[in-house]
Amino acid sequence: MQIKRLRLTGFKSFVEPTELRIEPGLTGVVGPNGCGKSNLLEAIRWVMGESSPKSMRGGGMEDVIFAGTSSRPPRDFAEVAIHCDTEGAVVAGLSDATEGHELEVIRRIERGAGSAYRANGRDVRAKDVALIFADAATGAHSPALVSQGKIANVIAAKPTERRAMLEEAAGIAGLHVRRKDAEQKLRATETNLIRLGEIVADME
Ligand code: ATP
Repeated sequence: MQIKRLRLTGFKSFVEPTELRIEPGLTGVVGPNGCGKSNLLEAIRWVMGESSPKSMRGGGMEDVIFAGTSSRPPRDFAEVAIHCDTEGAVVAGLSDATEGHELEVIRRIERGAGSAYRANGRDVRAKDVALIFADAATGAHSPALVSQGKIANVIAAKPTERRAMLEEAAGIAGLHVRRKDAEQKLRATETNLIRLGEIVADME
């Protein structure tokens, strides 16, 4: 999966609609202190389904919405759109909607209304978006996104944390989510079977 474009509106310091083209290869973001470099990386993680406000350096998720300055009023919503080339990969739950290998995921948050996601024009859940990117090894926690201090974190990480990083890089993180779902369904089915057995026994 190749990230092609990123569009931010009202996200943190990016109050006006801002579009960036991302070329193939390694991309570095440089600029003076406080110009929004980390905000950009956070926008990528956010649109990929990041659910922790803390990892967005906020107290609540609405803190990603432009909070206003002395000369500009705050905004009511923030939106980030990411445009990717799926490079022929089948996208979970979207196989018929990724014609031409194009994938556009949009996340929008409105004050008091929470987040909503769209993938190629279709309403999807946060979980679906997280799975799309986890399968492509480019998820919100992917080691492909190297933020400040990340290298030091990798060095200091415990073996279990390092294993999670490797699994994310290998694109198998989504399998753990699916296994958990499957185990839950299995448990629910077992409960139903026991109940069914009891009903049949009552009728005999
Ligand atoms: P450094 O090099 O110092 O780490 P940086 O380039 O990574 O800086 P960021 O941390 O991405 O900069 O951006 C910080 C700026 O974003 C600050 O000026 C802060 O006020 C602004 N900012 C963060 N959240 C919001 C928000 N919700 N509304 C408005 N501005 C915000």
